[in-house]
Amino acid sequence: MNQRIHCTINNCHYWSQGNECKANEIIITSDQFGQSNPDKVDATMAKQLTPESADSCMSTCCKTFVPQGSGSQRVSADSIQKMS
Ligand code: SF4
Repeated sequence: MNQRIHCTINNCHYWSQGNECKANEIIITSDQFGQSNPDKVDATMAKQLTPESADSCMSTCCKTFVPQGSGSQRVSADSIQKMS
């Protein structure tokens, strides 16, 4: 499957012109899960995570988000790669 992820969060390390996400994989979770788990819990661990429900789009988040310029340690914490 050749998916394209569109995103408007332009201060994310993985964001690119045209509102495209250039992460090789991402994970969406509930806000609660995103807030209570460290950066290393990300898309590479998806198969190990328990599915959960959400009431609306307002209670979900992109857990792969990393602020631009936050340093190599934080960028590499989740093992996600930025594609060219
Ligand atoms: S990782 Fe998430 S927040 Fe960052 S550009 Fe991709 S979809 Fe947007």
